Amino acid sequence: MKIAVCVKYVPEGAARRIDSATKKLDRSGEGTLNPFDANAVEEALRLKDERGGEVVVVSLGPDKAADALRKALAMGADRAVLVSDQAAEGSDLVATSLVLARVLEREAPDLVVFGQQGSDSDGAVLWAAVADRLRLPVVSQAAELTLGDGSLRVKRQTEYGYDVLEAPLPAVVAVSDAINQPRYPSLKGIMGAKRKPQETLALGDAGVDRERAGWEGSRTTVLRLEPPPPRGESRRIEDDGSGAAAQQIVDFLAEKRLL
Ligand SMILES: Cc1cc2nc3c(=O)[nH]c(=O)nc-3n(C[C@H](O)[C@H](O)[C@H](O)COP(=O)(O)OP(=O)(O)OC[C@H]3O[C@@H](n4cnc5c(N)ncnc54)[C@H](O)[C@@H]3O)c2cc1C
Repeated sequence: MKIAVCVKYVPEGAARRIDSATKKLDRSGEGTLNPFDANAVEEALRLKDERGGEVVVVSLGPDKAADALRKALAMGADRAVLVSDQAAEGSDLVATSLVLARVLEREAPDLVVFGQQGSDSDGAVLWAAVADRLRLPVVSQAAELTLGDGSLRVKRQTEYGYDVLEAPLPAVVAVSDAINQPRYPSLKGIMGAKRKPQETLALGDAGVDRERAGWEGSRTTVLRLEPPPPRGESRRIEDDGSGAAAQQIVDFLAEKRLL
């Protein structure tokens, strides 16, 4: 079975800096493998252990994104494909989905796995756009994933519990971060990663016209950015160790007619 995992190179750390001139995320500095995508790599490796086959990681990003791909290789993925091209800088969701879809068409995997969201942009939508381009079924928030013969079964986390969904393969699955505990790369894995096949493609190699990616191919415009509005009036109830806070909360809710 061939499994492709889409992984993103994101700025390290939780702090997000916005460049006020471009109204874009400032992605300068050190970066890393999107933590949500470690769950996607882990799940693909688990399925490979079960079924055999190959795990290929795919990314669109700057040259430095090779580091993120190498981490996935160190975890156990077999091969990496990075699309890195100056002309791809500034690609929005539509352009990004086009580039990834072209690479996935070429790879023709049985299953495409995504993380649930990029920790920098938090879109949680790219997998749907890619699945639409590939005309493949998509299931998101997969908290459990099992493969049958030519199909998959997903326990999908919802607000109210779980839905169980089945889809024919090939399909696209975005896994929840609750699906597994990603492994740490071993020293042997880190050393071995350097020798695994790592391909870097320009847009043209991936079959994407330059004008359909990057700033030129992106129709999204950020019009305005504002800090979130301050919270309204709030009351803080703290317990002094006596348990009295519980009664205060009950009284407060009763006062608001919420009980
Ligand atoms: C005008 C504009 C300019 C932009 N310029 C840039 C830019 O220069 N650089 C940049 O990184 N972003 C840029 N972005 C943001 C870019 O559009 C998003 O990063 C992209 O659409 C993915 O969305 P997301 O990060 O919210 O991913 P989500 O939808 O949250 O990601 C879901 C999953 O998709 C996969 N994924 C996400 N991104 C990639 C990727 N690049 N390669 C492989 N898999 C991926 C991962 O599995 C991830 O877990 C720009 C956005 C706009 C509006």
